[in-house]
Amino acid sequence: MSGSSTRRDLLGCAGGFLGAMALADEARAGGVDQGGKGSAKVEGEDYYDKLDVRKIINAAGTYTILTASTMPVSVQAAVAKAAKHPVRLLDLQKKAGEYLAQKLHCEAALVTAGASSALTLGTAACVDVMNNAPIQAVPSKVSGLGKNEILIQKAHRYSYDHALENCGAKFVEVESLDDYQKAFGDETVMAHFFNAAEGGQISREDWVRIAHQHGVPCFNDAAADVPPISNLWNYTQMGFDLVTFSGGKGIRGPQNAGLLLGRKDLVAAAMATNNPFDEGVGRGMKVAKEQIVGMVAAVDWFLSQTDEGMEAEFRRRADRICAELKAIPTLESKIFVPAVANHVPHLLLRYDQQHVKIAPLEVARNLREGTPSIELNPSTGRREGSAGLHSDENTIVVGVWMLEPGEDAIVGRRLREVLAGAVKA
Ligand SMILES: *Cc1c(COP(=O)(O)O)cnc(C)c1O
Repeated sequence: MSGSSTRRDLLGCAGGFLGAMALADEARAGGVDQGGKGSAKVEGEDYYDKLDVRKIINAAGTYTILTASTMPVSVQAAVAKAAKHPVRLLDLQKKAGEYLAQKLHCEAALVTAGASSALTLGTAACVDVMNNAPIQAVPSKVSGLGKNEILIQKAHRYSYDHALENCGAKFVEVESLDDYQKAFGDETVMAHFFNAAEGGQISREDWVRIAHQHGVPCFNDAAADVPPISNLWNYTQMGFDLVTFSGGKGIRGPQNAGLLLGRKDLVAAAMATNNPFDEGVGRGMKVAKEQIVGMVAAVDWFLSQTDEGMEAEFRRRADRICAELKAIPTLESKIFVPAVANHVPHLLLRYDQQHVKIAPLEVARNLREGTPSIELNPSTGRREGSAGLHSDENTIVVGVWMLEPGEDAIVGRRLREVLAGAVKA
């Protein structure tokens, strides 16, 4: 698009020819520069190149440190379009929430600045609603409120604890169902569940049932737990009062977006503590129009997929990588699907290091430093797997779900080069 047509678009129909002349005059006089002159500016300059930031092939998965997912083309286009027009933020938040709630079969929805932000906003909402407290109470006045304890299974304590603790509430740990039943008291404000936890004796159903007997809201953190697509409504329909999903993982929305789904009063309280309101704990967790639209467009995209279609595509990618590795002696491949989080096929590769004399960690380093730069799954060559993946020192883990078209063959070729180069003569 040329610069002049951009200016004409901006004028809309009302401005007409005289308006265009006036704007051209203004531009000549050094007035407003809309940044649309020249095709590089309109199409977008490559700032990774300009800043000398290395692009990577993501054969790892949806890791925030690797900028996680990329948005599908339809989502990128919706975001670019949204960026062109100001709107009333509350109007957009409200309409987006209503649309998402209807699509995801829940009472209410809010686009947040990620799942971690949703944990904070949702906890603040429970504190506000359960104590009938003003939003300004969170976090500094919460220790003085009657209800400020969050029940959690000991095995569900995790690295996102602080997202809830940001609200000034404190955790009370339980282990058995009996512990849990006895733990409810006048101080209980919420019961928190980590959906992908690998330990814990108490089921989701029991967690919800008993909390509701005590009139306490339940939150489920399912941030990384799609596919299956139906998980987007399974947990709210199971009775969880609040559920969060990360926007920038399997749903492939903006990296700084997420979903808070659930009860109308709680989602409304969460919204009141978020931007644009200045006095809530969520004011710094700003969600701009681009993220809101991007999140809604990503949900539309995700709902247009099928679990079977995605799984088959990921298996084809794994097959294409394996096809490159046929000649590597002793190499064995296996598909592994983590149980809850990142529930998609991952490719595991093992070989006898007596014959192929290179350790998986060394392979990962080679691929990272090579051209193009490739990131394998961080469980590669490690005993403690990441995010539901089980691994060991002798396994290469390839996350195929975030690869762009054609990248599977490149990953296969680079693995072949590095492994073949280490085959003992
Ligand atoms: C990724 C993740 C989060 C955080 O999600 P963001 O959208 O990056 O904020 C929270 N909880 C769990 C279990 C996660 O896996």
